[in-house]
Amino acid sequence: MRVGVYPGTFDPVTLGHMDIIRRSAKLVDRLVIGVTTNVSKSPMFSLDERLAMVRREVAELDAGIAVVSFDSLLMDFAEREGASVILRGLRAVADFEYEYQMAGMNQQINDRVETVFLMADVALQPIASRLVKEIAMYGGEIAKFVPPRVADDVRARVAALGIKKQ
Ligand code: ADP
Repeated sequence: MRVGVYPGTFDPVTLGHMDIIRRSAKLVDRLVIGVTTNVSKSPMFSLDERLAMVRREVAELDAGIAVVSFDSLLMDFAEREGASVILRGLRAVADFEYEYQMAGMNQQINDRVETVFLMADVALQPIASRLVKEIAMYGGEIAKFVPPRVADDVRARVAALGIKKQ
């Protein structure tokens, strides 16, 4: 059985992520979405909130997708899950440098696990969680970028935090 892990912060999960999740699920028998704590990014949503959001959104997809949190080296997480593949989405040149370096170093840490890069649908490629949050803070429309319930969550959080800008 081929197991793949798709790690990320998912703050919040976007239509770009969802597309990579759908594509990844076709390549492996079991897909484990790993939600990182990533305190360094000071996320808008807590780990539990992000886990719940991703779980809710993947619930409608095929079975065989698990959503778990992790706070360890990616390679240790992959080993623990019995994964032979790490899936990552690749957007434009901006992602390349970071992903290239990370995949290269991960290869040196554990050469039994391969990193596979997938491209999202062309229309979804520019989507980034960071920009979704920024657009929402300026009162912009985010419905094209995130699933409907996630859009509601982001709007509610922006309102609750009082971080709407003019
Ligand atoms: P990280 O904090 O690891 O960058 P993210 O949640 O931002 O986590 O992204 C997780 C993965 O999904 C990364 O591989 C990222 O490149 C990919 N990704 C995010 N948005 C898109 C998108 N619009 N198209 C393709 N890949 C994407």
